[in-house]
Amino acid sequence: MLLITEPSAMKAIPLLELKKLSAFYGSAQALFELSFCLDQGEVLALVGPNGAGKSTTLKSIVSWVDRWEGEIFFQGQSLKSLQSHQIAARGIALVPEDRRIFTSLSVEENLDIGRQVLRQKRDRGLVVEREHTNKGGQAWDLDAVLTLFPALGSMLKRPAGQMSGGEQQMLTIARALMGQPLLLLLDEPSEGVAPKIVEHMAQAILAMKQAGQSILISEQNRYFCDAIADRQLHLLQGCLV
Ligand code: ATP
Repeated sequence: MLLITEPSAMKAIPLLELKKLSAFYGSAQALFELSFCLDQGEVLALVGPNGAGKSTTLKSIVSWVDRWEGEIFFQGQSLKSLQSHQIAARGIALVPEDRRIFTSLSVEENLDIGRQVLRQKRDRGLVVEREHTNKGGQAWDLDAVLTLFPALGSMLKRPAGQMSGGEQQMLTIARALMGQPLLLLLDEPSEGVAPKIVEHMAQAILAMKQAGQSILISEQNRYFCDAIADRQLHLLQGCLV
């Protein structure tokens, strides 16, 4: 008998899938068997108090922890045994909580680094050219990131060290986007940022979502998550609750 599966009945592979992820700092266990998926184009928020394991989850995905166990699949392929730069080349970008900008370089030069990193990876054959899977075929070039964060446009020549914390946060996100990530990991983007900038940040994330950008975000601010996330997962003491 011939079995024919209707296309609508076939389940799409999630963009990201964590299966029983545990993570460790030395002998201390920070995550306990987390399992969840993130679909293409989804904005998923990990919500929880200090020390819940939000950052550790994001860091595990890019192999920034001492050791992790379980499985992490990206586009159906295991990330196990890959190093951070190889994971970045697959299309995952982490914007860490401690904004890592080059303070002596201008805003424009910082943004250009995002573009150069992508170019170097392409030159070294580390990036497999991929079709833009974003809904609108959005490529994050300078114009596109300045549309997301208009405030950066008026300070392109300014040394990045002279920006406020919130402006630096916008710059770090914009720079990461210029590397054309398939998945953006945002670690507490609203942390320590003025309310007005938090509002801009929420607008920018909604616009990214509109463009089809997939985002996994760690946040303590539930109101912020309510405004921007398709779905929220709650973490407490390294476990999903
Ligand atoms: P926060 O909002 O404070 O960043 P979080 O939910 O992101 O909290 P994590 O930073 O992931 O939580 O921390 C989870 C656990 O791992 C905590 O118990 C923390 O003390 C521990 N931890 C985090 N980083 C390290 C590290 N570098 N070395 C040892 N333990 C760590």
